[in-house]
Amino acid sequence: MKVKRIALYGGTFDPVHNGHMSVAHALLQLFALDEVVFIPAHVAPHKRDQFVSPALKRYAMLALATQAEARMRVSTFELDAPERPYTVETLARMKERYGQEARLFFVMGADSWTDIKTWREWERVLKLTNHIVMTRPGYELEAAHVTDEIRERMVDIRGVGAEEIARRVDESDAEKIYVTDAVQMAVSATQVRKLVRLGLDKEWPALVPQPVAEFIEKYRLYRDKA
Ligand code: ATP
Repeated sequence: MKVKRIALYGGTFDPVHNGHMSVAHALLQLFALDEVVFIPAHVAPHKRDQFVSPALKRYAMLALATQAEARMRVSTFELDAPERPYTVETLARMKERYGQEARLFFVMGADSWTDIKTWREWERVLKLTNHIVMTRPGYELEAAHVTDEIRERMVDIRGVGAEEIARRVDESDAEKIYVTDAVQMAVSATQVRKLVRLGLDKEWPALVPQPVAEFIEKYRLYRDKA
């Protein structure tokens, strides 16, 4: 049986935007993934003081954005959990669920990587699965904040082609942290919410998939708060 390659893409997705979608598309190709699974989270602890749209709406936008994408899926794993799971718990469960059937890659942007030490059991998070850290315009990609042991597991694949990446992934049975710059798209959910709130209706729809723009419009999201 062929071992599948599955990327797990966690986040708030308020809303999912073209930055997220480009990351998913690029990784499907670069890592020859079978699937990208978006895992919307409950409100992240560091975002509790901000307004975050209800989980159902964030889920709906992800479902709309991925509906026509055969290799993208949305998981309700975190939203269904009675207690808000931390990433460490989600990854442990996913690993258990897939067992030997799949190699898992957890995806994060450079900003999440910079904050990684604030995550619960961050070292275990980094050991549980492979990781893919995506550089993001405006964020430096540092490695000084992690331990030597973790730094040694980092693999810089910036500028490396898909075939070579596939070979390196196949050769390694240890869990690695792959660093890539395959996508450089300076869009954030904060920016989308702000442009909607300001009524810049000629600008923000281009930053999200079209059905997501229609949903934001129809349900009047982000009009008063951002
Ligand atoms: P916000 O502006 O509300 O903080 P965000 O745009 O960073 O939101 P999240 O839902 O928090 O979006 O992001 C989920 C994951 O996607 C995070 O790991 C984040 O780093 C990553 N990400 C978001 N936007 C980009 C982008 N443009 N390029 C690369 N990674 C991104």
